[in-house]
Amino acid sequence: MKQRLALLGSTGSIGKQTLDIVRRRPDEFEITTLTAGSRWESLVEQALEFKPDSVVIANEQHYNAVKEALSKEPIKVYAGSDALSQVVTGGEVDTVVNALVGYAGMLPSLAAVRASKRLALANKESLVVAGEHIMREAAERGVPILPIDSEHSAIFQCLAGEASAPRRVIVTASGGPFLRTPAEELERVTVAQALAHPNWSMGAKITIDSSTLVNKGFEVIEARWLFGLKPEQIDVLVHPQSIVHSMVEFEDGAIKAQLGTPDMHLPIQYALRFPERGELGEERLDFMKNPTLTFEPVDNERFPLLQTAYDCLRKGGNSCCVMNGANEVAVAAFLSGEIKYTDIARVILGTLERAQFVATPTIEDYAASNLESRRIAREIIQH
Ligand code: NDP
Ligand code: MG
Repeated sequence: MKQRLALLGSTGSIGKQTLDIVRRRPDEFEITTLTAGSRWESLVEQALEFKPDSVVIANEQHYNAVKEALSKEPIKVYAGSDALSQVVTGGEVDTVVNALVGYAGMLPSLAAVRASKRLALANKESLVVAGEHIMREAAERGVPILPIDSEHSAIFQCLAGEASAPRRVIVTASGGPFLRTPAEELERVTVAQALAHPNWSMGAKITIDSSTLVNKGFEVIEARWLFGLKPEQIDVLVHPQSIVHSMVEFEDGAIKAQLGTPDMHLPIQYALRFPERGELGEERLDFMKNPTLTFEPVDNERFPLLQTAYDCLRKGGNSCCVMNGANEVAVAAFLSGEIKYTDIARVILGTLERAQFVATPTIEDYAASNLESRRIAREIIQH
């Protein structure tokens, strides 16, 4: 039997690479659902190729266009963000691949877990916002959550077959495009410079998050929930070559690492085919082309937001949700030229100061907190 996939965010960077894997293994995988935010032409093209049962276009403005373009196909067309949570629950779905970006991915992750669907998770914001709820509900139902994020896939691979709990994990960070940029120049960096990641080709939002190290902060939060670690068991080390994808240290001092070229096809396929590996057809790591692997600490003066993520994690409650909401607004404002690069940190820190703290939030509280933090972030940007 083929594994039937509901692929959320199919038109994005992770979504398209997931379809590469499906295209190469037509006997193993079948697509039941594809979804896009606004890029409806790309969604239609994918639907004509993969013949899913249904598609969702989150931006309702494009519903008629998609419906029209697929009118000759037996494909159901839905619109709006609620549909994302509905399509994952269908009986024809085995695995939900969540490749949405941002807060928008959280409720679909929760819906997948509640419907006892295997969840291959790229959308780290799901766990940043509601990691405690999602992991608890998954554990209660015995639903596997398989990480796609390369660092977490690396940790997951290092833990496979181990009976002992890790002593700590070391999450590696490339350092992004501004690893060597002096503090006084950060104020003037352009959108194009921030979008030029040295090692990885990714969607715009995560590329900006990588440059500010917010992405690394979010990965610390993600690791905390995925692997049940305390914040002090998670270290971050800058590794500019992006070859060591992360490491796990055990009680006896042994450290296991997973290495490879910077290519998301591997962690995507590992999540989909776990516990089996298989030929990938991508470039293999050649040590002679990469003879030097280096490590250095994070400069917390120039990149303060990694520590902000640790602070939010330690404070708990809705803090990480507030940081996430403020970050989404700040990154969008930077990308549209509304604010300077260094304002991203100012907006996040200002929002964290002003947003209401909720110690034991419900899912509804997260929704309210997300809206409140976005509103505050916008106010800070406009004044
Ligand atoms: P992209 O921006 O490339 O793609 C995002 C996808 O989600 C697109 O299909 C997009 O549709 C859709 N989308 C965006 N906003 C909404 C919305 N509000 N409602 C519904 N759908 C929406 O992102 P990436 O693929 O780069 O990243 C996806 C996730 O994976 C993120 O959480 C990221 O942090 C994580 N990740 C990504 C990595 C990478 O290499 N790219 C590596 C590790 C983690 P449309 O195309 O129409 O805009
Ligand atoms: Mg990552």
